[in-house]
Amino acid sequence: MAKQKLFLLENAQTLVTMNADRNIHTNGWVAARDGMIIAIGSGPAPEKIEGDDRDQFTSLDASNCVVLPGLVNTHHHLFQTRTRAYGPVTDQELFPWLQALYPVWAELGDDQFYQGALVGFKELMRSGCTTTTDHHYLFPADASDNIIDITVLAARDAGIRFHPTRGSMSRSQKDGGLPPDSVVQDEETILADCERVIGKFHNPEPGSMVRVALAPCSPFSVSPELMQETANLARKNQVRLHTHLSETKDEDAYCLEIYNKRPVDFLESVGWLSDDVWLAHGIWFNDEEIVRLGKAGVSIAHCPTSNMRLGSGVCRVRDLRGAGSPVGLAVDGSASNDSSNMLAELRQSLLLHRVIHGAAGMTINEVLEMATLDGAACLGRTDIGCLEVGKACDLAVFDLEAIGYDGAHDPVAALLLCHPEPAREVVVGGIVNKQQER
Ligand SMILES: [Zn+2]
Repeated sequence: MAKQKLFLLENAQTLVTMNADRNIHTNGWVAARDGMIIAIGSGPAPEKIEGDDRDQFTSLDASNCVVLPGLVNTHHHLFQTRTRAYGPVTDQELFPWLQALYPVWAELGDDQFYQGALVGFKELMRSGCTTTTDHHYLFPADASDNIIDITVLAARDAGIRFHPTRGSMSRSQKDGGLPPDSVVQDEETILADCERVIGKFHNPEPGSMVRVALAPCSPFSVSPELMQETANLARKNQVRLHTHLSETKDEDAYCLEIYNKRPVDFLESVGWLSDDVWLAHGIWFNDEEIVRLGKAGVSIAHCPTSNMRLGSGVCRVRDLRGAGSPVGLAVDGSASNDSSNMLAELRQSLLLHRVIHGAAGMTINEVLEMATLDGAACLGRTDIGCLEVGKACDLAVFDLEAIGYDGAHDPVAALLLCHPEPAREVVVGGIVNKQQER
C-alpha cells in the first residue's frame, strides 16, 4: 500500500473554519491525511493524531498567521491575462470592449493559452485562492483542438484545484451575434469536444482536483438550440452548467430584440433555470426574477471589479442570497479586471456594496461566506469551502507581520480592510505551495 501523506498546520494565530458554527480557533491546528482533513482544534497539536504520531506529519508553522479556507474563484477567462490593460478599450463598456478584443484574441496560440493560464493560476494562488474555474469559450480557427487540455496541464503544473468549463461561441455576426466568424465553431464540433473533455478530465470523487462544466458563452454568442443541447449533455453526464447572464443593459436590449424575452425568461426557455447552473454577473435582474432564481437554486458568480471597470452595474447580492441563490465571488477575466487577485476581490466587494447600502450593508462575514461556502456551492462542491473533518485540506495562510497588516487589531477584518498582502503559503489537498516567488 502506498504511504499515506500526512500534513499538519500548527500554531496558527487565528484559524477561521467557516463551519456551521463559524468556529475560529486561536492557536489553531489542522491535520490531513491524503489531502483530506482528519482533525482540527486549538492549542498545541496532540502527540498522536488519528492513530499517527505527530512527528510523522509534514508540518507547517503558522505562528503570527491568519489561516482561511482556501478561497474559491467562480469565474475567470485565463487567456485574457495576455490582454490586460489593452489600450484601445481601457475606457469602453462591454459590447464595444468585446468587439475590439475578439480579433486580438483570435490570434492567440497554444503557448499563450498555457502561459496565460499559468499566470492566472499563480496570481490567484498568491492571493489565497486554492480552487478556480476557467470559462474558456475562445477556440480560434487556427489554434489546436486541445485548448482545455492545455489549461488542465497548467493547473497541474501550478498545483491548483481546477474546474475548467468547456465554453463555446457559435453565433457570429452573420447570424446576428456579436463575435466575428474567426472565433466561433459549429455546434456539432462544440458538443463533440464537450463530451471528449468530460470523458477525459471530469472526476466527481471527493477531493477531486479536476471537475468539468459546460459553458456556452452568452445569449449574444450562441443559439438557443446550443444552450438546450449543452444542458442535455451536461445532465446526461452529471456535470454543471455555466454562462454569462444579465451583465449589462445592452444585453437586456439584445435579448428583447432577438428573442423577445428578458435574459431570465430566455434562460428558462432553454431549460437552464435549475440548481445545476451558475451564472456570471447577474446584475440586471428585477424583483420577480430574483425570486425565481432563488427558488430554482441558481447560483451567481459576482465579479465586482470587472463590473466597476466596465461600468456594468452592481449585482444585488443580498437580495439574491436572501432569495436562496448562493453568490460566489470571482475576479472575472483579466481583460476586464486586469488582475487575478482574489483577496483584492473580497475587499472590492465589501467596499462596493457599502457605497450603495452603507457600512452595515455588507459585512466582513458575508464576504467571507461568499468567497468560501457560496463559491463551493457555485461549483457544486461539498468538500471544499470550510475546514472540518472530511473536507479537503485547502488553506490560505496570511502573515500578520506583513507590512500592510502591521498594527491591525482584528486579524480577520485586517485581511479585508487593509490593502491585500500576498498569501505566505497556500495549501491545496495537504500540499504546501510557497508564495514568495515573483
Ligand atoms: Zn466573464
